[in-house]
Amino acid sequence: MIIQPKTRGFICTTAHPEGCAQQVQRQIDYVTAQPAIEGPRNVLVIGASTGYGLASRIVSSFAAGANTIGVYFDKAAEGARTASAGWYNSAAFEEAAASAGRKSYSIVGDAFSDEIKAKTIDLIRTELGQIDLVVYSVASPRRTHPKTGETFASVIKPLGGTYTNKTVNFHSGEVTQATIEPATEDELRQTIAVMGGEDWQMWINELEQAGLLAEGATTVAYSYIGPEITHAVYREGTIGAAKNDLEATARRLNGQLSANGGRAFVSVNKALVTQSSSAIPVVPLYISALYKVMKEKGIHEGCIEQMYRLFSERLYSKGETLVDEKSLIRVDDWEMRPEIQAEVADVWAKLSTENVYELSDLEGYRREFFQLFGFETDGIDYEADINPDVNIPNLR
Ligand code: NAD
Repeated sequence: MIIQPKTRGFICTTAHPEGCAQQVQRQIDYVTAQPAIEGPRNVLVIGASTGYGLASRIVSSFAAGANTIGVYFDKAAEGARTASAGWYNSAAFEEAAASAGRKSYSIVGDAFSDEIKAKTIDLIRTELGQIDLVVYSVASPRRTHPKTGETFASVIKPLGGTYTNKTVNFHSGEVTQATIEPATEDELRQTIAVMGGEDWQMWINELEQAGLLAEGATTVAYSYIGPEITHAVYREGTIGAAKNDLEATARRLNGQLSANGGRAFVSVNKALVTQSSSAIPVVPLYISALYKVMKEKGIHEGCIEQMYRLFSERLYSKGETLVDEKSLIRVDDWEMRPEIQAEVADVWAKLSTENVYELSDLEGYRREFFQLFGFETDGIDYEADINPDVNIPNLR
C-alpha cells in the first residue's frame, strides 16, 4: 500500500508505519544520549501510545532502564485502512525495548473499563510483580463509566460567557475569529467525568487493593495552565474544571499513598502539538506563536525533552521533588517565563492571515502535526509500497 496523509480538519485518518517508527527512534536517540536516570524499575503508563504518555514510556525504558506496560486505545490495520499512529508507535517502541533487553507489554483497549483494569492487573502480577511508577496520560473525548454504564462526552467550552478569539486553520493558514458559546451544567459535569481524576483514582485503588504498588510507589498525571489568552476557553473553562478535579485527586492520592512511602503528583506540562491539543480552538495558533519565540531563544522542547526533564529534574532528582505553592510540578516553567509570555502576547496582537507564516511558526506546527502520523519525516520514501499490517510484539 502507498500511504499518504488523509486529513479531515484536525484529524488525520491514515498513519505511516515507517514514519512513526522513525519518530519513536528519534525520541529514543534523544534519551539515550542523556545521562541515565536512577528511577523506577517497573512502570505502568496508561495512555502510552502518543504524546506525553509515549514520551514517558520512552524515558522510563531508555533513560531509567525500566520494564513497562503500556495501556492505550489504538487500532490495527484492517483492509484498506492503516493502523492508527499509536499502534505503529507502540510496535516500534516494543521492538526497540526488547532489543535493549527490557520487558515491555501492551494492552490495547478502553482504560476506563473494569475489563482492561483487570487484564492489566493480571499481567502485572504474572510478569512484573509490583509497579513503582504509574503514569496517567489518557486524553479522550468520551468515557463510559464502568459502574453506571453512562457515556460522557467532554467539550472544550468556556463557562459563564461566550468566548471569542483568533484561531487558525493550520492547513490553509487562514486566521479567523472563533466564537464558542458557554457550556451547560451538564456539559461541565460530563467533561469532568471524562478528563477529571475519577478514573485515575480507580486505577490506583485497584492496584493498591491487589497489592501491586511497590513501597514508595509514585504516580503522576498531566495538566496544563497556559497563557491569559486561552484561560477563558481552557483553564477557566470546562477542561480547566476537569483539571482542577485531577489536581484535587492528586492531593487525595498523595495522602493515600504516603502511608506506604508513596507519592502522587500532577505535572503541568508545556503546550505541544499532539492529537489532543490540535482539537482545541485557538491553541494551535498560540502554539505556533510560542514555538517561534521559544525556538528563537533556544529553549524549545518537544514531548521527549519535557518528559526527560520531568523525570530527571523533578520526579527522580536527588532530594525533594520541586513543586509550586499548589504542590504542582511545573515543567511548563520555560513556557510561562514572563518574558516569553510578553513576547507571545505581542505577536498574538499582530497575527493575521497575511503575516501568520512570518510572525509565528505555523509551518513548524503543520509539519509536527503530520509527523504525529509518521508523515513529513526525513529519510522515508512516501512513494514506496509498504505493508500496513504491523504486529505489536507483546500485545496481551
Ligand atoms: P494524546 O492524544 O497524544 O495521547 C492520549 C493517549 O490516551 C493515547 O495513548 C491514547 O491511545 C490514549 N487513550 C485515549 N482514550 C483512551 C482510552 N479510552 N483507553 C486507553 N487509552 C486511551 O494526548 P496528550 O496531548 O499527550 O495528552 C496527555 C495528557 O497530557 C492529557 O492529560 C493532557 O491534558 C495533558 N497535557 C497535554 C498538553 C499538550 O499541549 N498536548 C499540555 C499539557 C498537558
